[in-house]
Amino acid sequence: MKLLSIGTVAFDALETPFGKRDRIVGGSCTYIALSASYFLNKSGIVSVVGDDFPNEMIQKLESRNIDLEGLQIKEGEKTFFWSGRYHNDMNTRDTLDTQLNVLENFDPIIPESYKNSEYVMLGNLVPAIQNQVLDRLGNKVKFTMLDTMNLWMDVAMDDLKQVIAKVDLLTINDEEARQLSGEYSLRKAAKVIMKMGPKFLIIKKGEHGALLFGEEGIFYAPALPLEDVFDPTGAGDTFAGGFIGYLASTDDTSFENMKRAVIVGSAMASFCVEKFGSERIEDLSLEEINERVAEFRKLTDFELNLALA
Ligand code: AMP
Repeated sequence: MKLLSIGTVAFDALETPFGKRDRIVGGSCTYIALSASYFLNKSGIVSVVGDDFPNEMIQKLESRNIDLEGLQIKEGEKTFFWSGRYHNDMNTRDTLDTQLNVLENFDPIIPESYKNSEYVMLGNLVPAIQNQVLDRLGNKVKFTMLDTMNLWMDVAMDDLKQVIAKVDLLTINDEEARQLSGEYSLRKAAKVIMKMGPKFLIIKKGEHGALLFGEEGIFYAPALPLEDVFDPTGAGDTFAGGFIGYLASTDDTSFENMKRAVIVGSAMASFCVEKFGSERIEDLSLEEINERVAEFRKLTDFELNLALA
């Protein structure tokens, strides 16, 4: 297996200025795996759901060549539930409810066929479980990427710092970078965070794009200004899935290739926000993805010859 992703497979209740959904499938792992599926023939996931999880979604994931041997289905238990409400600017949201349910006693079992995975995406999840997964993987791992959120900084900072120390790349949003580092300037925050372990850091700024930091320098990718943004849920995970899916498919972890991966991730995220939940990223065509990437190129491409005396 080229890529292994872990994270939540969830039910979400969402409220944005454009509408409301009471119970749709979401979860960090769902978005990551769907997004990465456009770049790989096959990938595996390690996660858990209850017996209330819809068969229809299982079939949809399988139809995108996502291997579900590592998805545990627990009889008599309920799937992880998260509920959030977005503010008017849609860049910020409040978590209204988090019910761990089946995640409370989750033992992440890694199928034999996943143990030789080379690329590992640790999607947003309890840091202790992210740690366990790293410990249980074989020595074939070439590249590990971690996503997390402010909640874990509040309630499990020690565990989180342990995982951060072990991964190659951390991706978080600007507010989380400030909380983790204690620095307001994102440049200073990046320095502090990279001293904690990761060689690379991506700071996401929602509709204001994303910054990639490495020893080689800084790269900035804008977000595409879209006509319709309905629901930002999962945009960060979709970004991460596109990023690591592209990286794994090209098998190149150089800074130059990561710049391309940031554009791919940003293009995938731009689709995600156009509809509620994961709907928009369930059936994309490669033409659509290519066109989006071309729009990104056009957005910042210009020639300038200043004839200054
Ligand atoms: P994003 O908008 O990229 O931050 O991801 C939103 C997804 O993360 C939703 O579909 C939720 O189900 C999931 N989620 C929310 N809170 C958590 C949490 N504490 N741990 C793991 N996943 C979560």
